[in-house]
Amino acid sequence: MQVLDGKALAETIKEELRQEVDQIRLAGGKIPHLAAVLVGADPASEVYVRNKVQSCEQVGFQSTLIRRGSETTQEEVLEIVRRLNDDPDVDGFIVQLPLPKHIDEDTVNLAIRPEKDVDGFTPVNIGRMTLGLPAYLPATPNGIMTMLERYGIETEGKEVVVLGRSNIVGTPMSILLSRKGNPGNATVTLCHSRTQDMAAHTRRADILIAAIGIPEMVTAELVKPGAVVIDVGINRVEDASRSRGFRLCGDVDYASLEPIVSAMTPVPGGVGPMTVVSLLMNTLKASKGRLS
Ligand code: NAD
Repeated sequence: MQVLDGKALAETIKEELRQEVDQIRLAGGKIPHLAAVLVGADPASEVYVRNKVQSCEQVGFQSTLIRRGSETTQEEVLEIVRRLNDDPDVDGFIVQLPLPKHIDEDTVNLAIRPEKDVDGFTPVNIGRMTLGLPAYLPATPNGIMTMLERYGIETEGKEVVVLGRSNIVGTPMSILLSRKGNPGNATVTLCHSRTQDMAAHTRRADILIAAIGIPEMVTAELVKPGAVVIDVGINRVEDASRSRGFRLCGDVDYASLEPIVSAMTPVPGGVGPMTVVSLLMNTLKASKGRLS
């Protein structure tokens, strides 16, 4: 089985980005600048945002982290969004989800200017993506597309099954892979919590992408031998033997699939690092003033 090593691939792409930033600096151009807004104290979000900021530093981008406590009002968050929309030095920004419950995520998302929406979550970018127009693609599905491309995994004409229909992962993933292109041109089935007989679909998949959020739910009997498996899930499972008291696992039962699949992403070290790299790639695009 081939391990689809997202961590190593992300490092390679970061090195490419770093060299591009060096070129920009030498030519006296604008250094890409990403801002991240973190509201509240969700421990997983803290880790994700820290990774994003550190990755910016690694490739020579400028980064700004705006932190606010869980008591922050929706109007205060909207004010930050408006300020970042209007700040000519900030090329792109993200508002880390989830937001505290009293803040409506849709309202905040709708306030972000599409030209700065490097997460690719606003309706304009989702619409442009769906039409095959230049767009900022959502980071996780775009990271998976990059991984399929760089590992040379053929998608044309293949049966792809995506598990989970979230706005940020499952749904855009299904759209990207069914569009014309390479990767793309696949026949895609999107399964979700109301799907009847999920196994009947997953057993036909040449490429199975799991984005559900249920620890190790995808077991060997759900998978076609020789399939390529992409595990998006990041789940914390209690584990007293670990110093942190938990371990991270995916939506896929890695050990049971390992003997039968042809290629698979590990968790951690698979899709996660590719997500961060996608965000950097979008920020570079934004700094060049291009939606592509
Ligand atoms: P979500 O939590 O918003 O939604 C889960 C989806 O799974 C829903 O569409 C639901 O219909 C579906 N689902 C739930 N139970 C199901 C079942 N029994 N059978 C089939 N489908 C079922 O999804 P999300 O935000 O895409 O997150 C999914 C997982 O991916 C989480 O573990 C999350 O932490 C992880 N994630 C990872 C990254 C990354 O960079 N690696 C990025 C985003 C999310």
